[in-house]
Amino acid sequence: IFILGIESSCDDTAASVICNGRVLSNVVASQKIHEEFGGVVPELASRAHQQNIVPVVDQALSQANIKKSDLNAIAFTRGPGLMGSLLVGTSFAKSMAFGLNIPLLDVNHMQGHILAHFIEEDGFKKPPFPFLAMTISGGHTQIVKVSHYFDMEVIGESIDDAVGEAYDKSGKILGLGYPAGPEIDRRAKLGDPKAFPFTKPKVAGLNFSFSGFKTAVLYFIQREVKKNPNFITERLNDICAAIQYTIIGILIDKLKLATTQTGITHIAIGGGVSANSGIREALKNGEQKFGWTTYVPKIEYTTDNAAMIAIVGYLKYLEKDFAEDNVMASARLKI
Ligand code: ATP
Ligand code: FE
Repeated sequence: IFILGIESSCDDTAASVICNGRVLSNVVASQKIHEEFGGVVPELASRAHQQNIVPVVDQALSQANIKKSDLNAIAFTRGPGLMGSLLVGTSFAKSMAFGLNIPLLDVNHMQGHILAHFIEEDGFKKPPFPFLAMTISGGHTQIVKVSHYFDMEVIGESIDDAVGEAYDKSGKILGLGYPAGPEIDRRAKLGDPKAFPFTKPKVAGLNFSFSGFKTAVLYFIQREVKKNPNFITERLNDICAAIQYTIIGILIDKLKLATTQTGITHIAIGGGVSANSGIREALKNGEQKFGWTTYVPKIEYTTDNAAMIAIVGYLKYLEKDFAEDNVMASARLKI
């Protein structure tokens, strides 16, 4: 079964072809235009999707070495995301499926980040149901109880900023480029995680809060720069290490609570921040320390990609759960 997946929820235009759950191609065109604005500009994102979508889909088909007519179905991201961006992928997928007279499959982007663990990939094991999925990305921070592919319950989430935003906004304060997550991660490895103490926000239960953390970083930097104008350049690696250490502490604390509350010790992570080396290491340590079994996706399936959309499409295809002809993009689609 050949499925084409199309992802256009934010600032990456992506297309992927999978065959029976195995990835044949996974093409991503990242939009560079947003870097100079220090964040995604929605109007520019939808325009860039318009330009990228035809070549990206062509490339995904040619790298998979198949023709359009070989496809069995087309999966697309219905939401959540930026409406203007979602509309490009949705309209394109609808027209293409209609033109080829094959089924259309609508996919929830966050289910994609979670179900990416079901891509057939040598050397990667799939989590058994039920498991806990922690989605850590640019727009979400959630702990999800996954009882089956499409039986998911959000048991905790951020009440304000997402963890990816905590990374990106801290990076902005430090004068780093956008998105700052990867650079903070790289520098964190060279610094002292205990150089500066940042307090962890106190949020009850399984919910998260990151907006106070960002403000704490801002005030700390302002105070230190007043004393030493070169503070950021002199201590950048230590600052990054301390930020990363605090964020990971927050995430691991909540996972510990979630495992005690649910009794589930199989833990999978997904989303852009799951590429982070520190969270990967902390999760691995949790296997010995807390008896967890952990599942970490291949790097190319962490930040936005279309293989994760195609795999959800494939799982829906097997259940004959096709989209209606009049399906519409939904910016605030829930899991
Ligand atoms: P959502 O999935 O919630 O709709 P999104 O699709 O915009 O949001 P992703 O592409 O899943 O988000 O993730 C992007 C985020 O991941 C950015 O905030 C980026 O800084 C962060 N990120 C990427 N790599 C790393 C890393 N190595 N360490 C920390 N953060 C990272
Ligand atoms: Fe995402």
